[in-house]
Amino acid sequence: LRGVVALDGPSGTGKTTVARKLAAELGAGYLDTGAMYRVVTLAVLDAGVDPHDADAVVALARSVRLDVSTDPASPGVRLDGTDVGEAIRTPRVDAAVSAVSAVSDLRDLLVQRQRALIEETARDGGGVVVDGRDIGTVVAPDAPLKVFLTASPEVRAARRGAQDTAAGREADQATVLASVQRRDRLDSGRAASPLRPAEDAVEFDTSELSIDQVLAALTELAGT
Ligand code: C5P
Repeated sequence: LRGVVALDGPSGTGKTTVARKLAAELGAGYLDTGAMYRVVTLAVLDAGVDPHDADAVVALARSVRLDVSTDPASPGVRLDGTDVGEAIRTPRVDAAVSAVSAVSDLRDLLVQRQRALIEETARDGGGVVVDGRDIGTVVAPDAPLKVFLTASPEVRAARRGAQDTAAGREADQATVLASVQRRDRLDSGRAASPLRPAEDAVEFDTSELSIDQVLAALTELAGT
């Protein structure tokens, strides 16, 4: 998959904000793969399916309609035609998404769709910035630029807490930190495509950096 910028890392690293801005700056498309796992998780919870029941999770994922925008200027996700942009970012979905995304057959299904979306987007406008956990290792292993963003758990929890507050949700710092660390553990420890940097990824610690500083560094990397 040529023209792909693979942007991986755990949550709270500024990945999603940076990915979207980078895509806009490069005139590229943008794909938020985490949103796809989140939409399936929302469908699983709404249907009362056990997130650990692999067969039921995959059957449900096949039966619903999932649309994601690849336009960085108007990101959006739909589940069976309904806008679920806010509903997928609640603590309820945060708590179940790692179990759902550990289902290997679900990953195969979503990776296939992600590759199709990337090819479609690249055909239209050139490059695509893809935001996820396994983009450099699994989805687009031949991407010419792979970046793995990190930051200390405390910094990431503080950023997540600020996002929660901005969304009008109460955020207790200790609870947010525990949730971030739990998700790290599950995402890094699963058998199917665990979270880890690709061997040829550029690793960036964003703990001490602003979004604009990270963006400037990535824009330079993407331009070379
Ligand atoms: O990036 P975001 O925090 O929205 O991702 C939500 C969850 O989706 C992650 O914690 C992870 O379990 C899963 N995910 C994944 N592979 C991806 C993107 C996200 O397993 N490529």
